[in-house]
Amino acid sequence: MKKRRKRLRVDRILYCLGILVVFVYLVILGISWIINHNIFKSVKEDNLLKTNKTNLKVWTKTINYINENVDEITIKHDGYYIKVNGNYIKNHINLDLNKYTTKINKGSFKNQKGLYIKKNEILDEALNIKLKLPYYLRKNNEVDVYGIKKGEYTLYKGRVKVKDKYISFDTSDDYDDYFITYIPLDSINTKTTLTCYVGDELDISFKFVPSNATNKSITYKASNDLLEIKGSKITAKKKGNTILTIKNIKNNISTDIKITIKGKKKVKEVKKEEEKKYEIVNKDGIYYIEDIMIVNKTYPLPSDYNPGGLSDDFMDAFYEMQAHAELDGIELWIQSGYRSYYTQDIIYNNYVSMDGQNEADTYSSRPGHSEHQSGLAADINNPDESFNGTAAAEWLKNNCYKYGFIVRFPEGKEDSTGYIYESWHLRYVGKEWAKKITESGKSLEEYFGITSRYE
Ligand SMILES: [Zn+2]
Repeated sequence: MKKRRKRLRVDRILYCLGILVVFVYLVILGISWIINHNIFKSVKEDNLLKTNKTNLKVWTKTINYINENVDEITIKHDGYYIKVNGNYIKNHINLDLNKYTTKINKGSFKNQKGLYIKKNEILDEALNIKLKLPYYLRKNNEVDVYGIKKGEYTLYKGRVKVKDKYISFDTSDDYDDYFITYIPLDSINTKTTLTCYVGDELDISFKFVPSNATNKSITYKASNDLLEIKGSKITAKKKGNTILTIKNIKNNISTDIKITIKGKKKVKEVKKEEEKKYEIVNKDGIYYIEDIMIVNKTYPLPSDYNPGGLSDDFMDAFYEMQAHAELDGIELWIQSGYRSYYTQDIIYNNYVSMDGQNEADTYSSRPGHSEHQSGLAADINNPDESFNGTAAAEWLKNNCYKYGFIVRFPEGKEDSTGYIYESWHLRYVGKEWAKKITESGKSLEEYFGITSRYE
């Protein structure tokens, strides 16, 4: 009797356990079916793959659907949207975004707080990343996206606008990981006094400190009506003294310039600049005229010349120009800055294989002949013919010299520069030269009487 009852109890326990296992299995199966069903539905309806899991196995049915019908698919995960090549979605999605705050102590970063995005097989194929920022970043109007390659941090997209807690940026093959951060502005450095004459347009030059600060929006305000302020343009209207305040509202930083406006108009020296003969000299394999580095089809840079990026002068001038353009409602950014000899080699040969050498030579430089290698030139906004004639291109054409830049390959100067019109390619030569060259209406080659021709 006793024995039988015991066996019965064991049987019953095993029976119950079996049922439980089957039940749990069915529940798991049911949940995973529901999740996958919802994913399939959202893919079909909105081109969106919604998941709240970092590691996910997706139905083959969904993968097949994506491969057959969708070129690009967006993955939505926990405040992130990642647009990827549809055909890259394999049956397993690993979305470990490592979104947690990191502090970086490296290069110019001293305990710099930010969001680190680590690539994995999905993020590696991402075309665009849109993400919801944590509070300490989203409270800013703008953030910076740094690209990371082999432990090096490079400003990839500066001043990315925060829209409704989100930012969005296209990824680049040049970087492995990304670091999203915000660098506060400490001060704006400028001269404290300025003397000018009625009718003058004021040359307010300033420097942001630190130069890589994120929010660089400024406003101008004068203490009285002696100045006329129209966007970035400030004109002296009446005789007297005034104080001009440059203010950065976001960081509550301001700086004052005491301005004395004299009534007697400066007598413009009409002395015609005589045709000067400039001499080109070679120092350590680099060509110069006066203090200007010359890089064109005739004068190359040594293959090992590597300034490591855009020069500080270039960046300071660019940031000053960017803040002024913003006052006129124009957004400027650096699309392509420094390029090494070897990067140019790859780019140029790629164009040659596409269009042939003769055609490629009109718009791309042979390695060593690109100004991008000098660290003194960059492509602004959109290096494409469609940029010509846009408001930003026109603004650059009319104003960039004020900050020390020239449009290096002007319209109608193809014969002397050797390149088609590039409204986006700016070269830094310093304010004095930029003014002289721009006002002459000549290209750099015409101004200095040099050629730009491959031998
Ligand atoms: Zn360029």
